[in-house]
Amino acid sequence: MTSRKITIVGAGQSGLQLGIGLLGAGFAVTIVSNRTPDQIRNSRVASSQCMFGQALSHERALDLDLWPDAPAVDGISFTIPHPGQAGEKAFSWSHRLDAPAQSIDQRVKMPEFMQVFEDRGGRFVFEDAGLGELERYAAGSDLVLVAAGKGEIARMFERDEARCTYDQPQRALALTYVNGLQPRPDYSAVCFNLIPGVGEYFVFPALTTTGPCEIMVFEGVPGGPMDRWQGLTPAEHLAHSRQILETFLPWEAERARNVELTDDLGVLQGRFAPTVRKPVATLPSGRAVLGLADVVVLNDPITGQGSNNASKCAASYLRSIIAHGDRAFDEEFMRRTFETYWDYARHVAQWTNAMLAPPPEHAVRLLGAAAAHPEIARRFANGFDYPPDFQDWFMDPDKARRYLAEVQGAVPVS
Ligand SMILES: Cc1cc2nc3c(=O)[nH]c(=O)nc-3n(C[C@H](O)[C@H](O)[C@H](O)COP(=O)(O)OP(=O)(O)OC[C@H]3O[C@@H](n4cnc5c(N)ncnc54)[C@H](O)[C@@H]3O)c2cc1C
Repeated sequence: MTSRKITIVGAGQSGLQLGIGLLGAGFAVTIVSNRTPDQIRNSRVASSQCMFGQALSHERALDLDLWPDAPAVDGISFTIPHPGQAGEKAFSWSHRLDAPAQSIDQRVKMPEFMQVFEDRGGRFVFEDAGLGELERYAAGSDLVLVAAGKGEIARMFERDEARCTYDQPQRALALTYVNGLQPRPDYSAVCFNLIPGVGEYFVFPALTTTGPCEIMVFEGVPGGPMDRWQGLTPAEHLAHSRQILETFLPWEAERARNVELTDDLGVLQGRFAPTVRKPVATLPSGRAVLGLADVVVLNDPITGQGSNNASKCAASYLRSIIAHGDRAFDEEFMRRTFETYWDYARHVAQWTNAMLAPPPEHAVRLLGAAAAHPEIARRFANGFDYPPDFQDWFMDPDKARRYLAEVQGAVPVS
């Protein structure tokens, strides 16, 4: 029997992971990429790509854990500066993750995954896919998936108004990849600093093209003091990163006193609106294609979920495709496949969109209480690995009140 043919547009986290998974299940897979491995290796950084335990386990299941010695991210720390006393913290806590996280620069990871895909029998086409190309792939494949991330081609999938919370970017984003940052004293962590009204700053260890590094991630409220990145040279970008820390987060400035850029392409600035799209696009011929990962559910990076979602989406689609057996991959299959994933991803979107809004009182109370109650800190930290858990205690004021009372050993006032 000849293998069924699947074409995937996009050689990023979701496209490569799904492609490699499908090869293992006996499909004939072609991946279309608008960048060669060398072009990816020599490109600008695109992400901070911190991936937590469950997402990493999907890679491990495909023997894609290729960097066992890369720096581990062992915990999450959370700090809010004191609103009235400059340079002081209102509260700060940290907790270990149940399973370590890891960030491998996509410039390192994707070329390696591309090699694995080829070694396991996959085929590449290097071109920038547009409508005409999609028609060609659809005519010659049993199923076409579009895993093109934030690429222009994603716009052929209609925005799903009912599932979108925002229509404008909610943060000015910036990345600064550095060497020389002072490590945390006890264990490595994503250090999450929330400056109400100004934005967020995270920093954590990673592996980049030059070896181990730390990635600084800035999320500035639009129009505010953390939204001034445009037109800077790499050296100015680094200086601006340090200046923000000196102004708002002196304890982080102290750690960053001797930092240098990993490379001149280790900086990024930009913004985009979080967007959910309808999963199926119909080509002029009437043939349908299915979107995955960022193409269909694009979240702001504030909660560091995009690569995690890409991995989980690829794993979910792989299960759906295999379970479908010999039947045709029709639109009904495509919608069902997406809805199965959305049943998970909607919780991620809801939590992420909530974190972009000014924090409600119950959230501040919970985050403050985590300093005295390690079990709250532990639950918040591990929520990054499985955000649906936030629905049970963090997202809803009544559930938050009951949970807090339970943890504090008090009887909840109903
Ligand atoms: C500042 C920032 C920080 C982030 N930090 C994190 C984090 O800490 N943790 C986390 O989990 N996520 C993070 N993310 C998000 C994460 O990087 C993305 O969500 C993830 O890479 C999406 O995977 P994907 O497979 O959908 O797309 P991508 O990984 O973007 O891959 C898409 C690929 O498709 C190719 N392509 C595009 N158009 C075409 C075309 N027409 N034809 C052929 N090929 C095409 C592109 O070149 C690219 O290689 C961050 C994002 C940003 C912007």
